[in-house]
Order: sequence, then C-alpha cells, then structure tokens
Amino acid sequence: MFSTILIANRGEIACRVIRTARRLGIRSIAVFSEADANAMHVRHADEAHFIGAAPARESYLRGDVILDVARRTGAQAIHPGYGFLSENAEFAEACAAAGIAFIGPPAAAIRAMGSKAESKRLMVAAGVPTVPGYHGEDQDDALLAAAAARIGFPVLIKASAGGGGKGMRPVLRAEDFGPELAGARREAQAAFGDQRMLLEKYLQRPRHVEVQVFGDQHGRITHLHTRDCSLQRRHQKVIEEAPAPDLSDALRARLHEAAENAARAVGYTNAGTVEFIVEGDDAFFLEMNTRLQVEHPVTEEITGLDLVEWQLRVAAGEALPAHWPPPAQGHAMEARLYAEDPTQDFRPSVGRLTELVLPHGPIVRVDAGVEAGDAVSSHYDPMIAKLIAFGDTRDAALDGLSAGLDATHVEGLRSNAILLRRLLRDSAFRAGAPDTGHIARHAATLLAPLPPAPDWMLALAVATWCSFADKGSEGAWHANTGFRLFGDAEIALRLSTEGVVHDLLARPRPHGAQVRLGQGPWLEARVRPGGGTVDGVPYTALIDTVIMPEWRVVMGSEVWWLKPLDPYAPASTAATADNRLAAPIPGRVVAVQCAVGDAVTAGQVLVLLEAMKTEIRLTAPRDGKVAAVNCAPGDSVDEGTELVTL
Ligand code: ADP
Repeated sequence: MFSTILIANRGEIACRVIRTARRLGIRSIAVFSEADANAMHVRHADEAHFIGAAPARESYLRGDVILDVARRTGAQAIHPGYGFLSENAEFAEACAAAGIAFIGPPAAAIRAMGSKAESKRLMVAAGVPTVPGYHGEDQDDALLAAAAARIGFPVLIKASAGGGGKGMRPVLRAEDFGPELAGARREAQAAFGDQRMLLEKYLQRPRHVEVQVFGDQHGRITHLHTRDCSLQRRHQKVIEEAPAPDLSDALRARLHEAAENAARAVGYTNAGTVEFIVEGDDAFFLEMNTRLQVEHPVTEEITGLDLVEWQLRVAAGEALPAHWPPPAQGHAMEARLYAEDPTQDFRPSVGRLTELVLPHGPIVRVDAGVEAGDAVSSHYDPMIAKLIAFGDTRDAALDGLSAGLDATHVEGLRSNAILLRRLLRDSAFRAGAPDTGHIARHAATLLAPLPPAPDWMLALAVATWCSFADKGSEGAWHANTGFRLFGDAEIALRLSTEGVVHDLLARPRPHGAQVRLGQGPWLEARVRPGGGTVDGVPYTALIDTVIMPEWRVVMGSEVWWLKPLDPYAPASTAATADNRLAAPIPGRVVAVQCAVGDAVTAGQVLVLLEAMKTEIRLTAPRDGKVAAVNCAPGDSVDEGTELVTL
C-alpha cells in the first residue's frame, strides 16, 4: 500500500479521500489554488501545496504542476477525484511516465470511453445494448437528417464530446431538425471545441439507472449494484439512491452483466460507473464515467464498503476479494445541497456562508467541502455538501434524509434545500422511481418560492419561545428586555425570514402569548404539542425555538427559519439597490434583452449571462423603466457590475 498520496482535487471529494487516507495511515498531500488557500481540504490534509491562480485551467487542471508537487513530496499515487483531471487520458499517461500511480483506470480505457459516439460503437461491438441511433463519423447535414428520419422522431441530438447536458437537444418534428442541429453544433463548438454529433431515439419517460463497477489489475471485473439518479434538473443529478428501486430481477441482472461487459470491453480497472437509460423493460447504454462518481456514497452505504479504500488497494496492485460483489443491504438516498437559486433557473449563488447548519448523528452522513464562514467561489462547482441517509427500507431512508434536510440551514447564500425537501416528500417519488423529466414537469410546485410566513405562524412561534422561557429554559432569557413572567410587560421582537423583517410585540401568558404584528390586532396564541391555536383556530407545525441558532418552523415539506434581530436597531430603509441589475457572479454577457426606455415588469429576463458553465437569466428586480444599459453581448463582467439601471 502507498504511504503518501496526492489529491488532485478540492472540495468535498478531496476531503472524502483525505478521510480514508487518514484512517489507513496514509499521508495526504493537498493542492490548492489562490481561491482555496484556506479551504477545508487544505485544512484537513497533512500537507498542502499552492499550484496556481483561481481559474481551474491555471491550477487544478495543471497536470504538470501537480505532478511536480507529487515528485517533490514523494507521493506514490495521485487520486484525481471527479471532474478536473479525472478523465484526462494524457494526465493518466503522464503519471505513469513519472512512475506515479494514477488512482483510476488505464489511459486507454479513459480514451475509449471519452467520446460518446466512439464508446457507443464499442458497446455495439461488445453486445451491450445502446439506444437506437446514429454514431457515425460522417457529419454531412443531409446524411444526419436522413438518419434522424430513419430513427423516427422524436430524436435527441447529442454532442459526441458532450457532458453536463451541453450540445444536447431533443427534436420533436422533422422540420425542426436543421435549426436544432445548427444550434447544437454552436453549443458544442463553444463548450468542447468539437462539433461532432450523434443521434439517438429520444425516449419520452426514461429513468437514469447506473451500475457501479470495479476492476482490479488481475483481470477481475465485478459490479457493485445499481443506483437510480432519475431526479435531475437541467440533466444534472439532484437526488440519487441505491439500489435502483422497481426493477425486475431479470432487468437488474441484465444491467449488472451489461455493465461488466462494458468495463471488460475496454480493459477497465479501478472504480467506474456505467450509465443506462431505462424505459419499461428496456435498458440502453448511455456512457461510462471512468472515475469515482459524486453519488458513490449510496453504494458504500448498501455494501458497507469504503470505495476510496478499494480504489487505493486496487491501484496498489491488490486483488478484489473473491466473494465480491457483497450483497446489497437496505437502502440509501443522497441529496446534493447546492449553493444555487432554484427559483432563478438554478443560478449559482456565490459568496460567504455566514451560517451553515448540517445534520449530524447516526442516520445522516454528511460529506461536505465547506463549513460556516467558508466561501463558495464562482470558479468551481457550487456544491455545499452531500447528505446521505441509510435505512432498512426505502421509506426509512427517505424519512431519514427528510429529517436531515429539515435540520439543514444555509445563510448568506441561496440553496436548493427547499427543492430537496419538497422532492423527498413528493408523493410520486415516494411511491417509486420517477422519470428524468419529473422535476421539469412539476416545476411550478417544486420550484415555487417559499410562501411568506403567515401571521399565525409568527404568533405561534413567538408564543412557543415565550412558553419555553416559562419552563425555565435559557432560550427566552437572553436578548429581551423588560420581561416579567405573566406580567403586563410587553416584549419587543424583530424576526427576519426570507428577506422580510417583522416587528412584533408579545405579552407572555400561561401556555402561550398574546402577539401583535406591526399595527395589527392582538392575537391569542396558545402552544400545544405539534402546533397550537391562534384566536382559537388550531394549526399543526413543528416549532423549534431553542435548539437551532435560529427559530425553525416545519410544516409539511416546508421549513421557515426565523432569525431574531435586535428590535431596537433602526429599520433599514428600503433598498435603493432595487434600481440596479448587477452581475451576481463574474461571467460573460450572452444577450441583452432590453433597451433604454423599455417598460419592464418584475421577473422579466433582461440579460443572459454565461457563468460557471451555465447560462443564467438575470431578471428585473421590480417593475420599472430601463434608464441605462451598461453592457453588451460579449462583455466580460465582474461580480457586482451594474448591467442595467431601472
Ligand atoms: P451528459 O454527458 O451531457 O450528461 P448523458 O448522455 O449522460 O449526457 O445524458 C444525460 C441525461 O440526459 C440522462 O441522464 C437522461 O436524463 C437524458 N438522456 C440522455 N439520452 C437520452 C435519450 N436518448 N432519451 C431521453 N433522455 C436522454
């Protein structure tokens, strides 16, 4: 086994690899960019070395610089994590040439699976089923159109070099094929510098099912069961589970075998994932990811294995245990907590995490790359953490993860926690595996902003807080003035939730309080287990005013966080910032959809910004008239640059 390894990555996956290395007594070397000098992976590693500027191509993608650090520190192996250099065949070769083990498959396997078209041709030859389609080299317009007609509409145009859903377009009717092909080529050229396309039958309601595989250097290849990753937004996974539910035994066995055959066909070693789309009883090869996946923890939970440990063992030459695959036991579910705004087209949200509360305890495992006080940078993936729950049954895993998410709170940035909570309580998802279009089809409800906290909720929360004081808890005693239990004293409170500030007065009463919101009437709030009454009307809600740093109200799949503020501070004047539309993160202006003098309405798209590998729609903050447009298509803009003035 190695005694020193270098981790050529950052964030949660670097921390994840370091954790296993530490447990195995292996020294871990981290590398970091200018943006990450004080990042969690740097703090956790035994040693950390600076490799360059913040943009990935000047640091985490600099294979030469990273290899140099490996040589200087005596690292015998490099773990690439996922993303960055993990599927870079040249880097794997350079490691081999330097006599340093690349903890992953051979360069030839990476290369063979690197192109969607090529890998599909290989799979056809290996007898692995692929979606009916065209994977040829000839890219003539008329030939592609004829192939599309032969496949039968709807067809899916995909960039051969694709990834992350880029250059991928469904075409429903023959007459749209030409323009969509041109659009897909433009997108693929911009993203990958490669215009080659493949065509596939577009499945209407497929599931995404994948198989974890592992190979050793002694010719042994085995599956480690399935995962379902059908809950996706913009073709990106949001919630994953293992094993994939609702598959017939026969189909499951076919998937395991097809995945092993795919891996065998390219001489695979180490951890990899073979992805399929499944419709009914049909399964088709999508692609193979020649690395550890983000969602590997759900497989670890149902097999009891540490996949990173086995990556290291296999890279060091050890054989896989003869009894593999170990049986799958129980069910595991993972949610990806992202710094992004689901109500704004999943726009990444960057900045400092002023507060980050994550669940802890035996049921939910948390793989995080940041903690409170850390920054989420515009240079890298905006994932905050992965939450993974295990249970004897799928329902138990769902309940565990739900509870974990209810206890999760992000401040300072927007997060997708609201969407995740709703998904975990979504009746269709609870009933079984949804298809990949589920989130998009139910966007109106799943992505709706959190409703404002109703008056009864604020009143009941205040009453709960007062009644905890009543029981002698510490909760209510600090931060209030003039408080006499059951006296006539009125307590002034200020609560902030979802950007709205509420001023309240409370008169504690036995089992509750009288509460007044602003200039409104006094409400009689009485606390009962699991909720209470306001002016005699019963309400059900889980109200928590002592455990968390902020008060928490859980109702159904929604959670409101009420932040107590100083009630005597002057109320902040209405933001003049509402007049400006500023770039939330650095990026490039793709399009400007308004002109000086235009009347615009709140929420109307004014500017398209390309940043962090996605197109972000920037919308009018309020109704108004455009006073100035300060940007043009093609401009590179910094965070905070004022693009449009109302
Ligand atoms: P990328 O590498 O860009 O992520 P993939 O080929 O892995 O693209 O596909 C990503 C997702 O797109 C899949 O998980 C699935 O949801 C959807 N998809 C891919 N191919 C098809 C198809 N032929 N029909 C319907 N949906 C598809």
